[in-house]
Formats: sequence, C-alpha cells, structure tokens
Amino acid sequence: MRALRQFAKTLFLGELLQGLALTFRYMWKPKFTVHYPEEKTPQSVRYRGLHALRRYPNGEERCIACKLCEAVCPALAITIESDVSADGTRRTTRYDIDLFKCIYCGFCEEACPVDAIVETRIHEYHMENRGENIMNKDKLLAIGERYESMIAADKLADAPYR
Ligand code: SF4
Ligand code: SF4
Repeated sequence: MRALRQFAKTLFLGELLQGLALTFRYMWKPKFTVHYPEEKTPQSVRYRGLHALRRYPNGEERCIACKLCEAVCPALAITIESDVSADGTRRTTRYDIDLFKCIYCGFCEEACPVDAIVETRIHEYHMENRGENIMNKDKLLAIGERYESMIAADKLADAPYR
C-alpha cells in the first residue's frame, strides 16, 4: 500500500505541486530578503566590530597603558608597550591589535577602566595587503577620532542597561 502511494505521488508529481503551492503562497507576501548593501538590518548599539582608541574632548588620549585589555584578551591579539611621557603620565608607545587573531569578544572594551578601547559598529572593512590586519595605535586613534560621535552616542544609549 505504501509503495502504491509512493508510486502515485511520483506519477502525479505531488511533491512538485506542493512546492509550487508554497511558492505561490509566498509570492505576494512581504519579502524577507534584505538587499545588502543598499539595505541594512538594524544594528545594536553593542555591536562588536572594528576597534578604535578614543580621546577625551580636549584631545588627550584616554588610554593610560594599564594593559588590562592585553591581559584579558583570550586570543592574545593585543600587544602593548608603554613608557612615561613628557608630562609624567604613562602612555602606550605601541598598541597593536591583530584582527586575524581577534574573536570580537568585547572583553578588552569591558576591561578598560577609562573607555579608551572600544569596538565600533563598523563591520565593512577589508585588507588588501599583508600586514594590514595589524591595527596599530595611529590607525586605532584615527578611527576613534572619525567615529567619536557615533561611539559616544552608542555608549550613552547603552548606559542605562549597564
Ligand atoms: S575583542 Fe576580544 S579577542 Fe578581540 S582584541 Fe578585544 S579582548 Fe581580544
Ligand atoms: S585601552 Fe584601556 S585597558 Fe587597554 S591599556 Fe589602555 S587604558 Fe588600559
């Protein structure tokens, strides 16, 4: 009996018709497809994308070279070297993040006592040459300067939930 039913199903293309019925049912419904990159899905203010180093409004670097981010990083992606600067404060002389090692866990941002290292919402980036995966201090500060308004707004929006 089962074999007969299977034969009839095959003969009358039952599964094909079932599939077509499903297609027609969804044909006039709103589409789920997002036409990326023209269309984008909403992003959380906690999105963990490309890193940035921030400055205070007076231009001073936030980072105090405490190395907590380096210590907490589970992927050992951060390398920091530090020295005493001319004004007597401790500053990083080297701050590298290897994006190939990074797993975007956000621990560095959580550990930072002065909100210096952050992960921005930027996720559309690529590398074309060997070595571009290393984000050094200058590059990180430049991203921080460029996107400070977005970073500050995201931090403010997230503050009530922390
Ligand atoms: S996001 Fe995580 S893995 Fe990436 S640098 Fe920060 S702590 Fe390390
Ligand atoms: S980014 Fe933050 S946690 Fe990392 S060394 Fe600088 S102050 Fe310390």
